[in-house]
Amino acid sequence: MHRNRLFFIVLTILLCVQWLLPQTGHAAEQTDTTYEDRFTLYKTTETLTNVPWYYLAAVDTYERGLRKALRDRDEEQGLISIFYSPSQWAGPLNPDLGDTNPLSISVFGGVGMDGDGDGIADRFNDADILYTFAHFLEKYGFKQEDMRIALWEYYKREQSVNIVQSHAKTYKTFGHLDLHKHSFVMPLHANYSYRSTWGAKRGWGGRRIHEGTDLFAGYGVPIQSASYGTVELIGWNNYGGWRVGIRDLDNNYHYYAHLSGFEKGLKKGDVVKAGQVVGYCGSSGYGKPGTQGKFPPHLHYGMYRDNGVTEWSFDPYPLLKSWERQAYKDRKK
Ligand SMILES: [Zn+2]
Repeated sequence: MHRNRLFFIVLTILLCVQWLLPQTGHAAEQTDTTYEDRFTLYKTTETLTNVPWYYLAAVDTYERGLRKALRDRDEEQGLISIFYSPSQWAGPLNPDLGDTNPLSISVFGGVGMDGDGDGIADRFNDADILYTFAHFLEKYGFKQEDMRIALWEYYKREQSVNIVQSHAKTYKTFGHLDLHKHSFVMPLHANYSYRSTWGAKRGWGGRRIHEGTDLFAGYGVPIQSASYGTVELIGWNNYGGWRVGIRDLDNNYHYYAHLSGFEKGLKKGDVVKAGQVVGYCGSSGYGKPGTQGKFPPHLHYGMYRDNGVTEWSFDPYPLLKSWERQAYKDRKK
């Protein structure tokens, strides 16, 4: 009787631990080993297909961002996020949607291929998935324009094509995958202040809510990119004044507005590092090009996430706080 009860308690504890484990496991997703293993997969597939690794990395990263934003797909099983449905993989007319035979898959018009040479086309095998996707790209050719057409055929959405191409450029420039670190948007020694203002009513330009955080600081305080990425947009806008938009590798768009000016030489398509100065704090905007001084100088910082269909704004305040905390920690070291 006593032993039975003890057994029951131990079993309960074990079940609880098991129930908790997968959740703690997810937190440590982007480790150095993950980057290394992924990089090896991209490079191996490049050797097999001649598709540049940074395009494979770009699509995979874009798809990883979509999974996070959409959540209607299964959790990523292995290292690769590119997704094929059972009917895409096995062929829409295939009576066996779990088919792993490359020959019958191709007979039924499925795309699934064997990438690691074991004779099996497995929809959950990283090498097979990546090889299948690379084979699709390969058919269009290897020039940048060829890739654009291939990506258009795949996504049928211009913004998705643009984002993947900017990811590819970022990866090509740095030559590795560890590009998800962030930086606070101003130097810590600058005299700045900000609070959570997301969703408040806008003062100018209609009824839209305030999509961002205002960081008040003096004229000319350097504005640092919060992320690695590419300059998607730079120039004048009647609301935002001189503003720059940067796309990071998590498909987020970082919007920096009301600048007094841009960092010299910065232009559309440029690749930037986290912490790199992109412009300077000012009070431009709320009028025709060059308008300034209608409000105290501040950085308007907004974040938008692309989900493959549309883009929406979310509150950057908690992230700003965490990047600021991290910057203080790094400074102490
Ligand atoms: Zn603002």
